[in-house]
Amino acid sequence: MIVGRVQRGLEMVKNMCPYCNEIRDTKLVHEKENITVRGELIAVDSCFLKCNTCNHSFDDPKSNFDVLDKAYREYRKTHNMLQPEDIKNWRHSLKLTQIELARILGFGDVTINRYESGKLQESSHDKAMRLAMRPVNLLSLIKDNSSCIADNEKRKEIIEILRKEIDFENSFESFLDTKFNTYQPSEFSGYNTLHLEKVFAAIIFFCSGIPIFKTKLNKLMFYADFKAFKEHALSITGLQYARLPFGPVPDHYDYYIATLLTEEKISKEEDKIGEKFLACDKPDLSLFNDDELKILIDIKKHFEKYSASRISDYSHQERAYTETQHSKFISYHFASELTI
Ligand SMILES: [Zn+2]
Repeated sequence: MIVGRVQRGLEMVKNMCPYCNEIRDTKLVHEKENITVRGELIAVDSCFLKCNTCNHSFDDPKSNFDVLDKAYREYRKTHNMLQPEDIKNWRHSLKLTQIELARILGFGDVTINRYESGKLQESSHDKAMRLAMRPVNLLSLIKDNSSCIADNEKRKEIIEILRKEIDFENSFESFLDTKFNTYQPSEFSGYNTLHLEKVFAAIIFFCSGIPIFKTKLNKLMFYADFKAFKEHALSITGLQYARLPFGPVPDHYDYYIATLLTEEKISKEEDKIGEKFLACDKPDLSLFNDDELKILIDIKKHFEKYSASRISDYSHQERAYTETQHSKFISYHFASELTI
């Protein structure tokens, strides 16, 4: 395995030489060592002692330096593989034993122990572990093979931890992260980027005063954004609207409502017709420019007397609605033909 050594530096130290069996002057030798790992040459800094009297080389007993360990670490780094501590930390976070984790993954019982101790993992095993690090995958592995964790209570506890992690992944925060990264201005967003603070402020504004049905709220948002595009060629919020059976609906609308409810910015009441929302907080109107604010006020006033079903029926006549296929996003280009 050791292919070549290149000497780099020398320091004199007194040490026990195992060959002379005496305390001798020794040199601490630093070298670049080429180690072959799975057919690849990996250059590693290594150091060892050399006896001045007999000229033999030996490992420094005071050092825990392990050249192979260093080569494996380097190899894992270049191949984007997990390091032993990554595996250990992951396992500890789930309070699993090495054998439990090995069985969940379908490995031999001692495999995880070996990997955590520094053995270089099979690349197929590395892939399997990375996949299993996604909570949703690990949960299904555990469910498929529940005998891997013999203790029922412990299994329930781990499933609970995983479910929480999955919920977190699906949470609004992570939704926003992906949303911001992927959402580009287009004809479907009114050539604007999604402006969440404006979305929240507009919802609170429309819910102020008297409780408003969810269906009506959706339509007011739609009319405000499309009216703004009609007049100024730019939507207010950057929201995308989908054509659904009850009319145009803002994309991911439920997330916004859920967030405002959680933050107690709006409250919910339910009757036999549906859910109604009422603002519990003042909207931050300073987010809007004068044109936008005028549109929000006009739209609210224009539809003040409209019931949820009336505004829903009304929106159904818009070409924006009739010309768009079911569940598809509505192009803001239809705004020019808006009836208001
Ligand atoms: Zn010696």
